[in-house]
This record gives sequence, C-alpha cells and structure tokens, in this order.
Amino acid sequence: MSIIAQRVQEVKQNIVKAAKRANRDPGRVHLIVVTKTRSIPEIRSAVEAGITEIGENRVQEFKKKVESLADLNVSRHLIGHLQTNKVKTALQCFDWIHSVDSLNLAREIQKRSEKLNQVVNILIQVNTSGEASKFGVEPERAVSLVEQVKVLPNLQIKGLMTIAAFLDDPEQVRPMFRELSLLREHVAQLDLERVEMEHLSMGMTNDYEVAIEEGATMVRIGTAIFGARNYN
Ligand SMILES: *Cc1c(COP(=O)(O)O)cnc(C)c1O
Repeated sequence: MSIIAQRVQEVKQNIVKAAKRANRDPGRVHLIVVTKTRSIPEIRSAVEAGITEIGENRVQEFKKKVESLADLNVSRHLIGHLQTNKVKTALQCFDWIHSVDSLNLAREIQKRSEKLNQVVNILIQVNTSGEASKFGVEPERAVSLVEQVKVLPNLQIKGLMTIAAFLDDPEQVRPMFRELSLLREHVAQLDLERVEMEHLSMGMTNDYEVAIEEGATMVRIGTAIFGARNYN
C-alpha cells in the first residue's frame, strides 16, 4: 500500500470514530481531499486509494491540472476565495463552489452558469472566526444573503461553509463550528424555497475530528494525507 493510501485509511478511520462519538452516521461525512500544490501523480494515488472528491483553493492552479485529471471519476470542489473575473473558468473546472460570500459574486455565477446552461452547487461561506482577514459573510448577514441568492435559478444552495481560525488547540475552534451548525439549523427551520441545508463544510487536518463532532458533512483535508505542503 502506498503511504498516501495508508493515510487515506487512517483519516477515514478517524472520521468514523469522530462520527460515532457524536452518535452520527459516518456515511454522512464526505472526505474532500485538498490537492493544492500537489502533483498529478500524488492526486492520482489518492484517487487510486478510493478518494472520490477533491478540493482546490485556486482557480488558476487547478485549471492547469484539470485536463490531466479529466479521466478520473471525481467531483471537484472550489474551496478558496473566488474573484468575479475567475468565475467563468471556475465553472469550467469545478462542480461545487464552497466560497459564495456576496450577492455580487453570486450574480456573476448566475450570469456565467446561465450561459453554460448548467446549475452549480454552492455553499454560503460564513466568517465564524471574526477575523477581518478571513473571507465569508458575517453570521448576522448570512440569512439575508441566503434569501438573495436562492432566487438565482442556476445556483443551488446546498449548505454552509466556514474556515475556522488557525489555532493550535482544536478545542478552541469548536465554538466556531458550533456556530455554523446552529446557523444551519436556523436556516433549515425557515424552510425557504430552493434552499437545501444538507451540508456543512468545515474542518481541516488540524481540527476535522472536532468539526465532525459538531456536525460537519464535508471535511477538507490536505496535510494529513499528503504531508506538509511545499509552496516553492
Ligand atoms: C488548504 C485548505 C484546506 C486543507 O488544509 P490542511 O490543513 O492541509 O488539511 C482546507 N480548506 C481550505 C479552504 C484550504 O485552503
């Protein structure tokens, strides 16, 4: 077994354990393997190990890889900030966009996806850390953004996403995950037309087990599978 395959197994086991601790069905937790900075052979070995969902945070970087991965049966998630001038390319490369955090961006996605005649799955990104450097709509404004985005016919809202603060102790980020989880319940109870609140995208290598305990249905994991990133 390759080292990548071993790590995929380890992460999957940890996902099962965390879900069971919270009395949740482990089958409801999607493992999205984050492949930014990774080579095509590395990505392929993760897929050989059974991975079916991959995530990248930069449109331009993934665009360079997308053709070499075209034969793979994987769903592709954009997990990083999206600029309006990259929307067209993003729609050609990704099946899901986790980072919708403004009406302006949503309208651009609508315009472009209408032209491509496709419906794109999106998540509303919420800033639960309170850090100004983080993208995402403020929690207080999330409901009104959902209400504005839901009328755009080529966007299908599937849930919420957050990037928690980078803190060493995952227990310190638990309140941020809990906040997103409560927000999802709140939006779900409003029972808005065309709004699905099935997914919570939260948790990375350092904190995915806590995120699952708090209700994550999508965890985004790079380092635990490929090792530390090298940006050179
Ligand atoms: C890079 C990245 C991840 C993965 O981080 P790891 O710590 O390597 O697991 C998850 N989510 C987002 C938005 C990222 O940019």
